[in-house]
Amino acid sequence: MYDKYSMKAEEFIDHQQILDTLAFADEHKRDAALIDQIIGKARQRKGLDHREASVLLACELEDRNEQIFALAEQIKKDFYGNRIVMFAPLYLSNYCINGCLYCPYHRKNKHIPRKKLSQEEIRAEVIALQDMGHKRLALEAGEDPVNNPLEYILESIKTIYSIKHKNGAIRRVNVNIAATTVEDYRKLKEAGIGTYILFQETYHKESYEHLHPTGPKSNYAYHTEAHDRAMQGGIDDVGLGVLFGLELYRYEFAGLLMHAEHLEAVFGVGPHTISVPRLCPADDIDPGSFDNGISDDIFAKIVACIRVAVPYTGMIISTRESPKVRERVLHLGVSQISGGSRTSVGGYTNEEPEEASTAQFDLSDHRTLDQVVAWLMEMGYIPSFCTACYREGRTGDRFMSLCKSGQINNCCLPNALMTLKEYLMDYASPETRALGERLIASQLGDIPREKTRSIVEDRLARIGAGERDFRF
Ligand code: SF4
Ligand code: SF4
Repeated sequence: MYDKYSMKAEEFIDHQQILDTLAFADEHKRDAALIDQIIGKARQRKGLDHREASVLLACELEDRNEQIFALAEQIKKDFYGNRIVMFAPLYLSNYCINGCLYCPYHRKNKHIPRKKLSQEEIRAEVIALQDMGHKRLALEAGEDPVNNPLEYILESIKTIYSIKHKNGAIRRVNVNIAATTVEDYRKLKEAGIGTYILFQETYHKESYEHLHPTGPKSNYAYHTEAHDRAMQGGIDDVGLGVLFGLELYRYEFAGLLMHAEHLEAVFGVGPHTISVPRLCPADDIDPGSFDNGISDDIFAKIVACIRVAVPYTGMIISTRESPKVRERVLHLGVSQISGGSRTSVGGYTNEEPEEASTAQFDLSDHRTLDQVVAWLMEMGYIPSFCTACYREGRTGDRFMSLCKSGQINNCCLPNALMTLKEYLMDYASPETRALGERLIASQLGDIPREKTRSIVEDRLARIGAGERDFRF
């Protein structure tokens, strides 16, 4: 029985409720009156529930679809302006005891080299990342209590935060590790993590169990309830995601939004971020062996519908996607992207020969961070290295209430300009720097309050003279 307040996975992600939702969406996919009503509600910027959003996703009326895309673009502009937050993944270890059928780190893969970074190797990777200009990382590690116990993750986080190389610093470490206990989440919180990210992979329980035949991850309920335990452990920024391609995308979409509704209902705070990875090739994984791949057009529609359904939730896309696809979905709602990424263990300091690759998936975007930054700016986006909210304690419901009141916009643009300026001074190529300086000058006028604008001008000059780490 569906109950968004329930703490049981099978009740807040109720299979029958999803099937009924999909049937309802199918029945109304050409119902102009209902679709107009839902678009009207979305225009109020208050979000949509999973059923309403599913109708928009199923909508087959061309003109209404155009309205949905236009609204997604408008909401994106209103909430996130032209800022795009930058991050990079850091793979600590590819030891894993799980049997996920879609990931080359699965236990039975005997030919992929297994590697775990020592603290010294982490130092080298972090220095390489700092030298690229990164300030925000997403830590990745397989599940293996012997090789990657929580103590190892905690020690690694401590190492990462401690490294100050030249003007570099990692100011926010998000963590993407296996579902664990409330006690462990509490320890992660104490270690100062930003967002705890855990992808559901698929919300379809039967498929989930088929795709996860062995290992602790095979427990659907334990995995699905992990974000609740993270919240109970004090981590109030949690990230959701599904791996599109494993199951029918409309099923996953409804499940994802039900999960967001559950978090909001129980904890008063929805997910901080939603990631939208798609299955892609990797070592012994062929995406063609999964039946549910989605086209670029459907992918764009999913992004647009998530944007209008949960306007306050950041949306993340990785280098799994090509520059072309990334460009398209940036307009529609994506607010964070990775750049210059390596998806192998130790990949920032060592070029691996292909036959000895430890990568989790093949990249579709091979550009350097500098190239990605320049590309964004050429399209009029401001690459932001901001981490201010987490460091100012603006997390969880504090963050959401600032977002909902629109106040956050007074912080985001100034912080984006100041962190971009730091990047330009310390890491950019001369061409990128020139492009960035022009962009900053043209954006200053968009800071609404005159007083804030003059503070930002002053701080930009001070960054130019060598000072660092200003924030609102
Ligand atoms: S998806 Fe995660 S848990 Fe599954 S095999 Fe890969 S690293 Fe391990
Ligand atoms: S001010 Fe907060 S919400 Fe805005 S970009 Fe920085 S960290 Fe994100």
